[in-house]
Amino acid sequence: MSYSNTTEYVIIPKDSYAIIRGCAKCGSKSRFVNTNKFRVNANGNKIDIWLIYQCEKCRHTLNLTVLERVSPNEIGENYKRFLANDIELSREYGVDKAFFVRNRAEIDFDTAEYELKCVNKGTEDIFIIRNPNGVKIRPDKIASELLKVSRSNIKKLIKNNSLEIRTELNGDIIIRKF
Ligand SMILES: [Zn+2]
Repeated sequence: MSYSNTTEYVIIPKDSYAIIRGCAKCGSKSRFVNTNKFRVNANGNKIDIWLIYQCEKCRHTLNLTVLERVSPNEIGENYKRFLANDIELSREYGVDKAFFVRNRAEIDFDTAEYELKCVNKGTEDIFIIRNPNGVKIRPDKIASELLKVSRSNIKKLIKNNSLEIRTELNGDIIIRKF
């Protein structure tokens, strides 16, 4: 399916995701935030890399695995960026949903802020909203924002078959007006 005439948006998280996890030091559930620091540990020819998260209340740290037992060659040119705590790289991981899934970390989507960026202006009858970072979001809320229609009116439009909202398997949201 070609989307050349479709109005296309991308959902972009404004900041690294925070995670919710029990903090051993606080003794309760807490919010951990990205410190934008990597920890690199070389053991012989094998390298482990973590991204360090930190409890917002007591600063107890939590290491999330970035790479495990890989050779420097496998890491390539990013190796220097890990060593230098490259802020862009730490933010890339900070919004990479698969990274949190691998670490079994629960993303705090309640506080995650995002922006909708228009990447292609086409017809106003069909919108595609790409969601590469897996932001947890209500499709009817997005539709309400883009069409400037209240959420209750969105529901009515759907009921009248004047509007269709669909979420694809990859997380893209399709909004179509009839
Ligand atoms: Zn804590």
